[in-house]
Amino acid sequence: MSDEKIASIIDAFPGPVILIGPDERVRAANEAIGVILGPNLVGRHFITALRQPAILEAVGEARTMRARRLVRYTGRDGAKDTHYRVVIAPAGDDILLTFEDQTAAEEAGQMRRDFVANVSHELRTPLTALLGFIETLGGAARDDAAARDRFLGIMAHEANRMTRLVDDLLSLSRVEEEERIRPRQYVDLAALLSSVIKGLEPQAADAGVTVVLDLMASDEMVPGDAGQLVQVFTNLVENGIKYGASGGEIVVRLLPRVMNMRLRGEAVQVIVADKGEGIASHHIARLTERFYRVDNHRSREVGGTGLGLAIVKHIINRHRGRLEIRSELGQGTEVSVFLPV
Ligand code: ATP
Ligand code: MG
Repeated sequence: MSDEKIASIIDAFPGPVILIGPDERVRAANEAIGVILGPNLVGRHFITALRQPAILEAVGEARTMRARRLVRYTGRDGAKDTHYRVVIAPAGDDILLTFEDQTAAEEAGQMRRDFVANVSHELRTPLTALLGFIETLGGAARDDAAARDRFLGIMAHEANRMTRLVDDLLSLSRVEEEERIRPRQYVDLAALLSSVIKGLEPQAADAGVTVVLDLMASDEMVPGDAGQLVQVFTNLVENGIKYGASGGEIVVRLLPRVMNMRLRGEAVQVIVADKGEGIASHHIARLTERFYRVDNHRSREVGGTGLGLAIVKHIINRHRGRLEIRSELGQGTEVSVFLPV
C-alpha cells in the first residue's frame, strides 16, 4: 500500500493513532496523536516521538514477538495529566499504536469511590451513637428514668439525621436524573419566596435572625418546577440562618427581569444575602461539590450534610439558570440565582 493511502486511512481514525514502519520511523500519524505527542511526527525515529520508556519497550516486544501489547501512557500538557490506554499491535511489517483516553473513566471511578466513602462515613457516625445509647439503655441506664429520656432524645436526633441524609441522597439522584428534562410549568416567584420564608420563620426565630423579603418585582412568572425551586430557596435561606445568623438579618430580594449576557436572554435574579461570617474565597468554587463543608464539625452540629448546594446546583442547571456565590470574610455572603424567563 502506498504511503499516501496509509496516511489517509490513519487520518480517518477518530482517536489518536500512530504507525511505525519496519525502519523504526513514524510512517503515519493522525491529527489527534499530534495533540499528545506534538506535531511533525512522520519520518521521525519512534524513540524520539514516543519517549516514555514503558511504551518504547512495548513497541520492541510487539515487534520481536509479533504480539499485541497494552501499556499506560501519561500525557502531561501542563495543568493536568491525561491517562491513555495504548494498544500496540503488529500490522504487517508495521506497528500500529492506538491511544484511548481513560481520564474521564478513571475520574468517574474515583468520584464513585469517594461518594461511597462519604456516604458510609456520614451514616457511621449517627449509627455508632445509636448503638452506644442502645447498649447503655439496656445496661447501666435501664432503671434511670431521667437518663432514659435524655438518651431517647439524642437517639431521635441521630435517627432524624440519617433520615435527612437519605432524603437528600434520593433527592440528589432524582434531580440528576431529571436534569435534561426542562420544567414545563410556570411559577410565581414572589409567592414562592414568601411561602418559603414563612416556612422557615420558626427556625429563623430560634437562631435570632429576621428574614426580610424585598420584592423589587412582583408578577414574575418563570418556567420552573415549583417543588424544586422551593428546595433551592429553602436551602439558601436555611444556610443563611445556619451560617450567617451572627449578622442578625437575611435579605431575600427578587429583581425584575433584565437581559443576561451569560444566559443569552432575559432572566430574573433572586439574591439571598446574609451579614454573617462569610466564606473564605478558596472554598467558594467547591461549595457545590457533594458533601463539601467549610467547617465539617460545625456544619454537622447544625445538622448539615453538605448536599444542599449540590442539589441547588443541579436544580438550577435543569432550569438553565446560573448560581453565583459571593462572599467576604466578616462581611457576609450573597448568593444569586438567575432564572431565564
Ligand atoms: P445541607 O444543606 O445538606 O443540610 P449544608 O448546609 O452543610 O448541609 P450546603 O448547603 O451544601 O450544605 O453548604 C455547604 C457549606 O457551605 C456549608 O457547610 C457551610 O460551610 C457553607 N455555607 C453555605 N452557605 C453559607 C453562608 N450563607 N454563610 C457561610 N457559610 C455558608
Ligand atoms: Mg445547606
